[in-house]
Amino acid sequence: MNRIGIHYAYWQRDWNTDFIESVRHAASLGFEAVDFATADIMALPRPKQAELRDTAKGLGIALSFLPATGPEVDIASPDRSIRENGVEYFKRCVQFTADMGSDIFAGIIYSAWQARVEGILNDKSDALERSRESLRKILPTAEDCGVWYCLEVVNRYEQYLLNTAEEGIAYVDSLNSPRLKLLLDTFHMNIEEDDIPGAIRRVGGRLAHFHVGEPNRRLPGQGKDGRMPWKGIFTALRDVGYTGIITMEPFVRMGGQVGKAICVWRDLQEGPDEALDADARISIGFLRSQLAAAQAATL
Ligand code: MN
Repeated sequence: MNRIGIHYAYWQRDWNTDFIESVRHAASLGFEAVDFATADIMALPRPKQAELRDTAKGLGIALSFLPATGPEVDIASPDRSIRENGVEYFKRCVQFTADMGSDIFAGIIYSAWQARVEGILNDKSDALERSRESLRKILPTAEDCGVWYCLEVVNRYEQYLLNTAEEGIAYVDSLNSPRLKLLLDTFHMNIEEDDIPGAIRRVGGRLAHFHVGEPNRRLPGQGKDGRMPWKGIFTALRDVGYTGIITMEPFVRMGGQVGKAICVWRDLQEGPDEALDADARISIGFLRSQLAAAQAATL
């Protein structure tokens, strides 16, 4: 059965927090994996990082690391020094991921989050080639460290290079690295894909991490009108033999650094803060029941 995870920022208004407590809290609710941003954890003293790693290990929590990439580390930038900066940064992140006992480094690690396009973009092949050229320098580190380098395909308002599974597949296949994989996210897919289960099937064995949420980033299972094709999604995950982590990435709280970065301009949180935990537990149950139903359907 796949591990069920959560992005730590579900509970956060600011990115920095007591990360060890985040892991303990997630474990107490029944999660088996946590997605973290990298920057604040990489800035911790080494003993604190070791304590986080050991706490997660002791609780059976798998960690994944996703940088909130900014324009200063854009490996697709036309500016060579920015690209080189990004290459060195992502290499350090990959090494750090391995040092933390994790094998998942994921996100918009082929360019930058919310990278702006200068001028008019009629053709993105040059930007893609700059990104690939940078990645060729990073991937040997991922291969040496035994880390999956998972490119997250995201919606058009957050990035311009990889918006569909098809684009992600073409990119991954052009580089021929055993450690280069994809991260799909149902929130982004609901904006860009014509057929979400079909996209998962085409990605197949290239899928190494998976984010789940409703079309407005509520917790999976909280959609009221059935717009997210959950049954089809879980059937597709079963059909491609996906055994990786399924991480919910809900963002429902307005305010703070997180609300601003994620563009949560209204409060989707229903009830007091304690309700966040109850809702998360319900959502774990929903995902488990979807997994079980997909398995049962094969019998
Ligand atoms: Mn995501």
